[in-house]
Amino acid sequence: MTLNFSNSLRFISIILLSSLLALNGCSTESKPVPKFQETVFTMGTLVEVTIIGEDEQLAEQAYTTILDDFNFMHNTWHPWQRNALRRINSLLATGADFSLAPSILPLITKSQTLSKQSGGLFNPAIGKLVKLWGFHQDDLDNIIEPPEDEEIQALLKDLPQMSDIKFNNLTMSGSNENIQLDFGGFAKGAAVDATIEHLKEFGIRNAVINAGGDLRAIGSHNNRPWRIGIRNPTASGVFAAVEVTGDESVFTSGDYERYFEADGKRYHHIIDPRTGYPANKTRSVTVIHSDAATADAAATALFIAGPEQWHDIATAMGIKYVMLIAKNGDVHMNPAMSKRIQFVTKQASIKISQPLQ
Ligand code: ADP
Ligand code: MG
Repeated sequence: MTLNFSNSLRFISIILLSSLLALNGCSTESKPVPKFQETVFTMGTLVEVTIIGEDEQLAEQAYTTILDDFNFMHNTWHPWQRNALRRINSLLATGADFSLAPSILPLITKSQTLSKQSGGLFNPAIGKLVKLWGFHQDDLDNIIEPPEDEEIQALLKDLPQMSDIKFNNLTMSGSNENIQLDFGGFAKGAAVDATIEHLKEFGIRNAVINAGGDLRAIGSHNNRPWRIGIRNPTASGVFAAVEVTGDESVFTSGDYERYFEADGKRYHHIIDPRTGYPANKTRSVTVIHSDAATADAAATALFIAGPEQWHDIATAMGIKYVMLIAKNGDVHMNPAMSKRIQFVTKQASIKISQPLQ
């Protein structure tokens, strides 16, 4: 969840592609299928909701309901506001037992599993490190230099892990005074999952929730797959497309999402917990997976893992489709992903890995 407008470019690319498809769809159908589409700014990004083939009133009602969901999740999960998460963060740091917080609990338990699977590369307990770099702020323009190395090393000495949070029946506690939960790496995915589930409860079968270019799609688009655009990490515009049907999520993490520049160097917001610095081997990672929270966490973890380690971490996380663009421009994919990706422009160097089991 980036809490600013930086995803809007990518979002616009996706819209263009989907609108194009919508037009194609209409030209071949004898009777136009109802299409509901609304865009809202929530959770720090533009969220586009598309519902196909449903009565307008039902679509409108479902949309209004999930807007409430988004606002609730934004307010509750925002890492640096006076809210439930802030209360939990201050209690975790004390080491004392306190009662479970139902609005945050699912995020904690899910991210404990994902963090473990990722070998600690996805680590939402490192909020202090994120804050030290200044990425907790909406506006990064006022950052003029990276933090002192000494301060980074001090935090790395006893870096908090998700496993530092323990449960005891109806209470929980933290065992590292530096724990600071920041769910920025997967809250957007968790929110997309929650709202898709809510749409399903309304009986909606064909829909996409697209949060700044990261999305989950269910069903199909006029009996055709949804066609999803993936933004070019180095230039504007769509770089590749992928087709999605059934129930799948497509999430991308990139070094272009949120960053500041100091002394001609770019410092972006995905921090390698092993070094305390922004991960430096990757430009972007796209993951396709059934649920959005896992896809979001995996995109962040595989970005950090980089061209040498992504395959091992994807295997451990149970991910079956990955495309990683390395710093040098090489495109790494597993064979199943390479079958699905359609490049818009020719890629100089494509490296197909062993299959992901
Ligand atoms: P985006 O949502 O911008 O596409 P990500 O999903 O990769 O990007 O999330 C980046 C955010 O995750 C950062 O802004 C920060 O809040 C948080 N974060 C940074 N490094 C890590 C990490 N190693 N593990 C978990 N979360 C992280
Ligand atoms: Mg992520």
